[in-house]
This record gives sequence, C-alpha cells and structure tokens, in this order.
Amino acid sequence: MLDDFEKLRTASGSEEWRHRRSMELGSLVQRRLAYLQNPKDCESAKKVVCNLHKGCGFGCQLHHLTYCMITAYAMQRTLILESKGWRYAPKGWETVFMPLSETCTDKGGGSKIRWGPSMSEMERHQILELPIVDSLHPRPEFMPLSVPADLAHDLSTIHGDPPVWWIGQMLQYLFRPNKRLQDDIDATVKRMGFRSTIVGVHVRRTDKINLEAAFHHLDEYMVHVKEYYDQLDRRHNGTQRRVYLATDDSGVLEEAKKKYPSYKFISDNLISKSASLGTRYSDNSLRGIIIDIYLLSRCDFLVCTFSSQVCRVAYEIMQTLHGDASEKFRSLDDVFYYGGQNAHDLRVLEAHPGDGDSMVEIKIGDAVGIAGNHWDGYSKGTNRRTGASGLYPSYKVENTVVAVKMPTYPEVPL
Ligand code: GDP
Repeated sequence: MLDDFEKLRTASGSEEWRHRRSMELGSLVQRRLAYLQNPKDCESAKKVVCNLHKGCGFGCQLHHLTYCMITAYAMQRTLILESKGWRYAPKGWETVFMPLSETCTDKGGGSKIRWGPSMSEMERHQILELPIVDSLHPRPEFMPLSVPADLAHDLSTIHGDPPVWWIGQMLQYLFRPNKRLQDDIDATVKRMGFRSTIVGVHVRRTDKINLEAAFHHLDEYMVHVKEYYDQLDRRHNGTQRRVYLATDDSGVLEEAKKKYPSYKFISDNLISKSASLGTRYSDNSLRGIIIDIYLLSRCDFLVCTFSSQVCRVAYEIMQTLHGDASEKFRSLDDVFYYGGQNAHDLRVLEAHPGDGDSMVEIKIGDAVGIAGNHWDGYSKGTNRRTGASGLYPSYKVENTVVAVKMPTYPEVPL
C-alpha cells in the first residue's frame, strides 16, 4: 500500500509540483527575512534583541534564536543577536555562521523595553529585548505552531505539517555556515562519502538519559532503518544501505558496525577526534554538532528521538530541502513539538467511544490536545470539550493549521 501511495504521488506529477511550490514559498520567506534584516537606516529601525546565552545545548540555543527570529518577523523588527562570549565560540556567532545582517548588527541607543507588559506598550519603543521563551509573558499568538496567515493556505496544500516548514525557514536563514565552515563541511562530506540514499540515525544518550528521555537500544532504531530500505528495495533492488550515525555516545558506532555488517555506517565521530588536533574553532564540540545537524538534515529519512532538540532541528531544516519531509521520520518517543509552543490541538475526524478505562470518548469536530503518540496506532490526549484524558486511535484525528496575521512584506516582490 505504501508503495502504491509513493507511485501515485510521483505518477500524477503532484509531488514535483508541491516541491517546486515549496521552494518558491521558501525563497519568498528568505527574501522577506533578508529585507527585514537589512533595513535602509539601521539607526532608526525598530529592533528585537536576542541574547544567545541560554544555559543549554546547541540545539536548544538554536531554537531560542529561532523563536527570536519568528518574533522579529511577526513584529517587523530587525533581529539583533548578542553572541559575544558564547560558550561554544567566545568570539560569537560569526565564528562559524554568516551574520544575520549585512548592514545592521548594533542595537543602538534608542528607547528600550523588556518584553511585556502589553503589545501597545512595546510598540512605543525602538528596542525590544527578548527573554528566554520560558519567561515570555504575555505569550504572543504568533508563537509556534502558528504560521503566517498569508502563507497558510498554500502551505496546507503543499506540506503535511506547515508549522515545521515555517520553523525550518527560520533555521534556513540562521543556519548559514560561513565560508570557512562551509569549506570544512564540504571536505568532510567528500572524505566520508556522504551521499544519497542515506538514512540519518541520531542516538542521544549521556546526560539526557533518565532525566529527559528513556534509553533506547540501537536495535530499536535499526528496525525503522531496515523497514525504510526494505520498502525501497521493492522499487529499486540492491540500494546500498547507508546510515549516517550521529550520537553523543562514542560506543554506538562500534556496536552498529559489529551488529549490522550489511549496512554502511558513516559517522563524523572519529573524524572529529582526529581533526581536533588542528581545530580552528575554540571548541571542537561546536564543529561536531554543526556537522551532525547539517548532515542529518540532508538525509533522506530520519530515525531518532524527538525529545532531542538536535534531531528536531535537523528535521526542521530537512523541510527546506525536500519540499515536504513531514513523513520522512520515525521518532522513538515524542511527537514533534517546539519548546514554548502554544497549545497543540488536533481535530477529530471520526468518533470513537470511550471505554470507561484507558480510552477517551471523542466526537467529530472535537479538539484534542495531544500529549503523545504511542506509535502503536494510539495517541494520548485531552478532549477539550469534556476535559477527559486518555487514548484514542491516532488516525481518527488530524492536525489543524493555526493561521495568525503577520506582516506581509509588500515591499518584497512575490
Ligand atoms: P538535547 O539535549 O538533545 O535536546 O539537545 P541540546 O542541543 O540542547 O543539547 C545536546 C548537546 O549534546 C549538543 O549541544 C551537543 O553538544 C551534544 N550532542 C547531542 N547529540 C549529539 C550528536 O549527535 N553529535 C554531537 N556532535 N553532539 C551531540
């Protein structure tokens, strides 16, 4: 059945059309961001200021910056990034990435306000300083999983999960390696033999286990890798089974090679260590995590735990490259979410009776706040109408798109 779906998608030409349209819309968003970030007069431009020093890992910091970028777009203010003294590169963001602006990187000395107390009060000030998302009060409606109203209809037509596409666009603008890093990435790709067809596996362990996520054995990931290649084999026999393995646990690569000899495992782990001799960044872990995210996002399919921001960032960027990669993943734990998101409600398409026990009653049109997917056909959530929580068949609900009015940037041609 999956093969038939795949054939139908390509045979009708709709896949190609959706991909093209996704690229066009992506290009529009990128041009809008470039316009926003390069105001004619930096001195008088309205700005939001975002400080990169959130006390967390790289993926988490990228998501912090992404929320700042969304805020900048939604409030039509240029984003100023403060990154000097960054724990990953003390000289700042531009050690590895392109600057967010060619013309305007200074917050200047205009009137300043910290986020809050009201939108109208903030509007009166030139410089708006953003807190970390956890202390964002009041919470604006433009936060994920919202998408801009002027793009919402098109996005719903071409993409399976528009909010992920939208977040991916922010990351595409932010996550632009500078020349030196890009040369490094290109050389690494060549040396490793990284190329399609390839499945990305991200195994997140060490400090995460038992605090924020459960331990998952390598075999649990490989079930899905095998399924992906078995299905592919029915269409193109004999595809080499390549896996890009990204992990913070150095033992996994050896285990993978030993246990799965029919797969070719590619990993940056060993290369990072040997390259550390001649490292040009203040912290070699920065190079490692950037390369892993970059390459995971360029895989054809991802198997990981969405509890990790590393994998979610890769999945978000993936959307900007594939057109629609919303189905190109298996998460062993969480459904997709964005830290600090507004409520994630799904709409019921088909009724299901409660059983007075673990199963919750749902009726057509009900909104269900999703808590998690058990990946066995059932999800868990709260019926907003009745307040009851429990399990329901995942296929009986669908995602809804929350469209929020944002600036439409008429100065930027379509
Ligand atoms: P999360 O904790 O997994 O949600 O993501 P964070 O980005 O907040 O923190 C994870 C940190 O662990 C990263 O910043 C990396 O330093 C490290 N890490 C996790 N997974 C990987 C990986 O696959 N490769 C590398 N190089 N580092 C990783």
